Amino acid sequence: MTRPPTAATGATPTQRSAGPAAGAPATVVPLPNGHAAPIHDPALARIADKVLSGGRVTFEEGMTLFATPDLPGLAALADAVRAEKVGDKAYYVHSLRLSQTNVCYVGCTFCGFQRTMDQEGVWDMDLPDVWAFVEKHATPDLVEIHISSGHHPKRGWDYYLDLTRGLTERGYQVKAWTAAEIHHFTRIARPAGTTAPVSYREVLSELKDAGLIAMPGGGAEIFAERVRRRIARAKVDADGWLDVHRTAHELGLPTNATMLYGHVETLEERLDHMMRIRDLQDEAPGFMSFVPLAFQPDNNQLAREIGKTEFTTGLDDLRNLAVARVVLDNVPHVKGYWIMITPELVQVSLGAGVSDVDGTISDERIAHASGASTETGITEGELIRLIQDAGRTPVKRDAIYTELEVHPARPLA
Ligand code: SF4
Repeated sequence: MTRPPTAATGATPTQRSAGPAAGAPATVVPLPNGHAAPIHDPALARIADKVLSGGRVTFEEGMTLFATPDLPGLAALADAVRAEKVGDKAYYVHSLRLSQTNVCYVGCTFCGFQRTMDQEGVWDMDLPDVWAFVEKHATPDLVEIHISSGHHPKRGWDYYLDLTRGLTERGYQVKAWTAAEIHHFTRIARPAGTTAPVSYREVLSELKDAGLIAMPGGGAEIFAERVRRRIARAKVDADGWLDVHRTAHELGLPTNATMLYGHVETLEERLDHMMRIRDLQDEAPGFMSFVPLAFQPDNNQLAREIGKTEFTTGLDDLRNLAVARVVLDNVPHVKGYWIMITPELVQVSLGAGVSDVDGTISDERIAHASGASTETGITEGELIRLIQDAGRTPVKRDAIYTELEVHPARPLA
């Protein structure tokens, strides 16, 4: 089946040049700006034809995307897929990151953030401390509070409900609680005197009643058991993570999905991770965006174990984002997380499949505990400038992608 050109982008299936001379491009990808990008790798050209005709890549084809030497061609294909979904828009959110504690008992080996309760550098906010933190960091146009924190061994269930409710009552959208935390909550939410955990559905329903509007995608790491055993042994397993998100989607709670890459995983395991997200999205739609998270190599056990001292490279980051955009055909957005791969590379990635640059954040602590070299926050004006200078239209969104404000695009010089 051939998809007609879309009104938004004019993207059509790739065009074969008749009998290309040696060295000439085998295929060109029509781009939304009216230009065309050449694809030099014949294997990639065959996949481009399929994808832009409405086909879905297989696992083998996904591996070809990871292997192609034609990164510009892959980026052009990802850009065409992106453009079919969002036209020339690129999204950002005015957000605040809240990490109310770094106390955590889980012990993921990649994490430099976690502390035990009596360890140097620990913090742990009671609710009045949280309200004071928010008051200090909130600006009048703050939309979303995104909570990222540890699994506290002592806090009770009411604390999390009161935290969610209190932020909501103060007028903020609360995007919070990873699937791993939801799994933890099923233990602490059980009635006194009982031993069986309550269900994911019960926990999520109570949080939703308290105001929770969306869930982040953390805790996914890499689904492959071989890797998970090594980096996140005590965390909810892959099936549990997927089950939490399935349940959230069924309850009308949209979520994101992350993937931590650049450590001990193979490319096959990255692709397997993406495919499992694609399968769940087919079954129970509700993912808003896919967020690749680049491994940060400082202050964590995993980096020491594997002797890793370097960050992921820009080309690996870009390829990963582009592959994700092509593979995850049913997920609306691929997000470039500037905290981990720099604002400059995220700007470049807007031409390789990315349609969301995340947000202002203001007080990121988790990636920085493991060596992130970026700032802990960024201004809204800077996000707008990055998007405009990439030739895109900046759109301020809320936590669930409601469009709040469309800024003018700036023509490329
Ligand atoms: S990644 Fe999260 S769950 Fe794992 S140790 Fe760090 S804070 Fe705890």
